[in-house]
Amino acid sequence: MVDELARAVTAGGTVRAFAVVTTRLVEEARVRHGTLPTATAALGRGLTAGLLLGGMLKTGERISLEFSGDGPLRSILVDATPEGVVRGFVSRPRTHLPARDGKLDVGGALGRGILCVMRTSLEGAPYRSIVPLVSGEIGNDVARYLLDSEQTPSAVGVGVYVDADGRVQAAGGYVVQTMPGAEPATAEQLESNVSRSATPSELIRAGLDARAVLAHLLAGFPPAVVEAGPVRFGCHCSRERVGAALVAMGRAELADVLAGDRQAEVICEFCAQRYLVEEAELRALLAGADGGASQ
Ligand code: ZN
Repeated sequence: MVDELARAVTAGGTVRAFAVVTTRLVEEARVRHGTLPTATAALGRGLTAGLLLGGMLKTGERISLEFSGDGPLRSILVDATPEGVVRGFVSRPRTHLPARDGKLDVGGALGRGILCVMRTSLEGAPYRSIVPLVSGEIGNDVARYLLDSEQTPSAVGVGVYVDADGRVQAAGGYVVQTMPGAEPATAEQLESNVSRSATPSELIRAGLDARAVLAHLLAGFPPAVVEAGPVRFGCHCSRERVGAALVAMGRAELADVLAGDRQAEVICEFCAQRYLVEEAELRALLAGADGGASQ
């Protein structure tokens, strides 16, 4: 099944829903970061939530979510675009805890803390919002953010199923929202649909794609307008950006690296890509840094 995000609007525009399948991209993130199962689930839920919130943005905007807690995982940081590109990492990828109620204990791994959401656009100041974590299980933490900061009552489900080998077998999620003007009966019907629904990873394991998850959640409503598009893990790091970051360390630091290891290894936090910057390139950067200073 392909990774895809689907959107729907129904009930005269008073119900909005998003569903996303992220199995492949969460598996890619697991391999890149070398996460153990609890950390895989935490990262996967975070990436999935990022894509769902990203799906609500306008072109040119970005959203970043930082979950920070006092548990062993420490934090999850993801950012996503409305075009369906997401990247992210956790502070402690080797975190793994005993299962709780038969499920990977993401709430225990994250602990108590906060969710910080930052929305940026090409123009204007970034919009930042901080809410306390409800449970650290990600889904209801994001629902809290949507209610408190965007005043939109939402049901949010995100889930990752990790198999016995540690690989991601199913991942995805949904957001279902009532918009202003929704009838009480509409809200009740939605609530009933969501509460009777299986978890996102169960639905995806059963073979439902993003459109089918939406149809399942919106059962009993008039046929919804659905559009869908691909989603993927993607990072915008590059050799040029690595070079710029090395220059930004300062002339003295660069000179130290040249005098010592004579090369620099830089690892992108978001995607774990390794960049090895050799001596000749370091010398060129240093020369460039000198040039910049004398201008
Ligand atoms: Zn990267």
